[in-house]
Amino acid sequence: MKELCGARLIDGISVASSLKERLRGELLSHLSAGDVARRPTLATLLVGTPHEAVAYERRLRDLTGELGFGHLCASFEEEATEAEVLETLHRLDADESVCGILILKPLPDHIPVERLSEELSPAKDVEGIHPYNAGLLALGRPRYVPSTPKACFLILDDYLKRSGRDPREFYERSHIVVIGRSANVGRAALQLAMRRGATVTSCDVNTYRAGRLREFTGQADVLISAAGVAGLIDESHVKEGVIAIDVGINPVEGPGDKVRLVGDMDTRSVAKKAEAITPVPGGVGPVTDVCLLENVLLAARAT
Ligand code: NAD
Repeated sequence: MKELCGARLIDGISVASSLKERLRGELLSHLSAGDVARRPTLATLLVGTPHEAVAYERRLRDLTGELGFGHLCASFEEEATEAEVLETLHRLDADESVCGILILKPLPDHIPVERLSEELSPAKDVEGIHPYNAGLLALGRPRYVPSTPKACFLILDDYLKRSGRDPREFYERSHIVVIGRSANVGRAALQLAMRRGATVTSCDVNTYRAGRLREFTGQADVLISAAGVAGLIDESHVKEGVIAIDVGINPVEGPGDKVRLVGDMDTRSVAKKAEAITPVPGGVGPVTDVCLLENVLLAARAT
């Protein structure tokens, strides 16, 4: 495993590639058992052209093509009304060829994601944001585990096993601190951490505003950051030996006209104290993409 400033760099691309192999095989057996013409299809809904949503849509288009899933993207101008977007959402929901629907974030302020998620049928809600699916997750019996936190814990489980530890035993004696509380990322990661029997702390923007972020992040055996703030976490926020999972994907400008994507963590700085850290790009992101398609296959099997 590669190292950075003494920390192990967790390679999300390699974790994703084993998952892809398995998923490709599962998709083939699903197709050979049924109607080959009906490929499990993911529909994405994109409003405007926010950099991270466009980049995610592009990755999903490539990955669905690579693995043999169907894919379509319904895109709208940023000025589109909620009614226009809802009409398309209802059409996709009624379309039998579509197994799963993903609403790409961020959405413009005049279209709240909660409004759209309530209109999705739970069976096609492969990101687990419909209140019914979120409720199942909160009860510890999810239908769809949201892709990003699923990826975080797949990465963690894999890393712990490779480093000779029993994940169950590790979680039960560990303190997991999660930054961010969005429905499908931070809040869902908290649910998964609780399900594994860890001691759990949730921080959000109020913790930051109160000047108390370090107080909590500094206690973490595992720190998961999903705030969407570039460079929010540095070595002063973590204790020696932390396992750091950086979910953030934040566009920053420069050099020149270029836009780069960076995480919530200053990777080099956190790595000075961490046992292990996920890089951005190449950490949680590639695993998330495959986890989402696993959920699409799950949805296809249920129809
Ligand atoms: P969101 O805006 O819906 O939620 C952000 C959360 O972070 C909120 O709970 C907010 O209170 C909290 N927060 C904001 N600023 C903070 C601060 N200074 N200190 C502490 N908490 C703060 O965002 P989201 O959809 O959950 O995404 C979060 C980040 O994760 C974004 O950068 C997004 O691009 C990225 N993301 C990555 C993946 C992946 O696969 N790696 C997937 C989804 C989202």
